[in-house]
Amino acid sequence: MKALDELIFDNRFARLGDAFSTSVLPDPIAEPRLVVASEAAMALLDLEPTEAHSPMFAELFGGHKLWSEAEPRAMVYSGHQFGGYNPRLGDGRGLLLGEVYNDAGEHWDLHLKGAGETPYSRMGDGRAVLRSSIREFLASEALHALGIPSSRALCVIGSSTPVWRETQERAAMLLRLAPSHVRFGHFEYFYYTRQPEQQRILAEHVLKLHFPECQTEPEPYLAMFRSIVERNAELIALWQAYGFCHGVMNTDNMSILGITFDFGPFAFLDDFDANFICNHSDDQGRYSYSNQVPIAHWNLSALAQALTPFISVPALQETLALFLPLYEAHYLHLMRRRLGLLRAEEDDKVLIERLLQLMQPGAVDYTLFFRKLGDQPAEQALQVVRDDFVDLAGFDRWAVDYLARIAREPDNTEGRRERMHAVNPLYILRNYLAQRAIEAAEGGDYEEVRRLHQVLCKPFEEQPGMQAYAERPPEWGKHLEISCSS
Ligand code: AMP
Ligand code: MG
Repeated sequence: MKALDELIFDNRFARLGDAFSTSVLPDPIAEPRLVVASEAAMALLDLEPTEAHSPMFAELFGGHKLWSEAEPRAMVYSGHQFGGYNPRLGDGRGLLLGEVYNDAGEHWDLHLKGAGETPYSRMGDGRAVLRSSIREFLASEALHALGIPSSRALCVIGSSTPVWRETQERAAMLLRLAPSHVRFGHFEYFYYTRQPEQQRILAEHVLKLHFPECQTEPEPYLAMFRSIVERNAELIALWQAYGFCHGVMNTDNMSILGITFDFGPFAFLDDFDANFICNHSDDQGRYSYSNQVPIAHWNLSALAQALTPFISVPALQETLALFLPLYEAHYLHLMRRRLGLLRAEEDDKVLIERLLQLMQPGAVDYTLFFRKLGDQPAEQALQVVRDDFVDLAGFDRWAVDYLARIAREPDNTEGRRERMHAVNPLYILRNYLAQRAIEAAEGGDYEEVRRLHQVLCKPFEEQPGMQAYAERPPEWGKHLEISCSS
């Protein structure tokens, strides 16, 4: 275990030079204080957990101090936002402080979000508010605990620095960890600005560092693109299976590693609704829950376009065509497990689709449905969940087919509860839970954020005294409006 001043840096992205990022120093926030830290994320850097409570921790991640080996840089990228191309985005309020490697030899990007203005800030103030920093922190760590690939969050540092959004709020900083911060939009930037040499340097960098297994393939860049398609298919299957809505799937928010990245107005589904739009600013529902699948495909095709200097169009098209079948195979696998099915049968897809169609008009809590289904033997469990459906006759027909289906499983009772509970969380990051924790934190009380974080670290495990965190939203918490403002 290390102390804060013992981190070892190796800033490989910074060494690519000024065509890729610009040197910028963090602009500190006033009276920095620890809001919440993740011990699990600290462990990725081999950091001693007690370090979070040292004054140096809040000073470092509040932008007041810097390691001498850190080389803070704002990265340049572009991207398609809501379908339209924006030629220049970049880190407008975040800095890649450097890359740290741990004892296991893994490199982690240290990215400080809310670190002040950069050449890419455009009209923005370079800041992040406490509310959105807490939301990103909780979501990153909650997704990871669910087994969904995500960037990680080391900590949130609060401050007394005022920032203006719809009302006056306080600035905060979030320290984000990821093996890479390269987005689809990085490749788009060099493609559309016609800088083939820089684009090749970027592609080589990503290939060597993040897709080393592709280097020995006959066409390394094509193999890398294929891997990006595969990872995204798997990621989106997990989002859909667990009801996670990203909210702003612009290509600048898509990681080349296929991890959940750049959190804004995200949400987990409470009641199942295929058309759910979590982003209040998304009038057209471009990024609705069910659109996430075609949008991921669309984003991959935008990346493919940017890779045309390296890879033939037919090869890109052939690889892109893998996305939907791969997605579907992963999704079905996950949903079977959620339903307690171990084997695959031809008609499982229909069984799952019928269930979701029955859920649509009712008020069926998407998380608790699966949890309750596994809680008791299937016959009893079906009676418990039945009440929330509108089409009761339809549900009963589905229940008969489901019972017949599990009767064909080799092991349909033994271990069913443990098996299902191991994949069906009891606790998810519901918007209302986040909201409650944020309101307390805005009043200076960080206990609720910390408690919620602890609960979400073990989503599959029933935790004594924490029943309140498994409840459906109260009336006020059902229709919280979360916009892009952050
Ligand atoms: P996001 O919606 O957070 O993915 O951000 C989209 C783009 O706007 C990125 O280039 C961000 O760096 C930039 N941006 C967002 N908020 C701010 C802000 N408060 N100040 C400066 N740039 C920002
Ligand atoms: Mg972004």
